[in-house]
Amino acid sequence: MKLAALLLALAACDGSSMDSPDAGTDGAVGSDAPPGCTRPAIDATWLQSQLTSWVAGLASAPRATSTQRTTARTYLMNQLATIGWTAQLHMYTTGANVHVTIPATMGTGKEILVGAHFDTVTNSPGANDNASGVAVVLAVARYLVDVPCRTAPVTIVLFDGEENGLLGSRAYAPTKTAANVRAVHTIDQVAWDQDNDLRFELEAPTPTLEAEYRAAAQVVGALVTTVPTEGTDHQAFRERGFAAIGLTEEYVGGDTSPHRHLAGDTPATVDT
Ligand SMILES: [Zn+2]
Repeated sequence: MKLAALLLALAACDGSSMDSPDAGTDGAVGSDAPPGCTRPAIDATWLQSQLTSWVAGLASAPRATSTQRTTARTYLMNQLATIGWTAQLHMYTTGANVHVTIPATMGTGKEILVGAHFDTVTNSPGANDNASGVAVVLAVARYLVDVPCRTAPVTIVLFDGEENGLLGSRAYAPTKTAANVRAVHTIDQVAWDQDNDLRFELEAPTPTLEAEYRAAAQVVGALVTTVPTEGTDHQAFRERGFAAIGLTEEYVGGDTSPHRHLAGDTPATVDT
């Protein structure tokens, strides 16, 4: 339920309400949008089972060694291919990110980045940290297949090397220019919600993005708290001048997985 709520929030704050006077406050393309541009419902029948499947598929083993991370990248490339997008590797000295830019179908909106790290610490299968975030990013990629009128390119990127110091995101950020990117959303640890309040933390958000998430949270019935946390992938972009936000469960607030970085961070312990 928690992952699904986050996807709803992402879809509801895609910026269309700022970019287009025709867009409704729910983020949907308005009634006077061009014919054929009606956006499909976000709570699609595939969503829950697909989130569960991706967490299970990725978190069957740790993704720390070079061999383990290669296996994970192959899985991610295959999943994106099944969805319909041909991803590529972005190689850097000690690893490789997986990325694909889904083109706009109309308009000239600035690029939007949505990312999550796929690597883990040694000996943790990393279901919550961070197969959960990867599953949401893959769900965005899958949802966009069904969005017929996309007014901005969306880059899907699965980062390597986060656990060793944001290596993947810091290698990737310089491949983009801040002035050409509308927003960077990164997701890390989002499938724990012991008190079932559907509360997310907005990490060090650029003010415009914080406002969008606060509005989107109301639309989808989630709660948000703003926190100053900087230790994950969004920081790699913020330090280079990008508009950026990190999304997580209540990591600062304390409603966070007790299995973080441990062998117990398995699919069985997370709440998709
Ligand atoms: Zn993480």
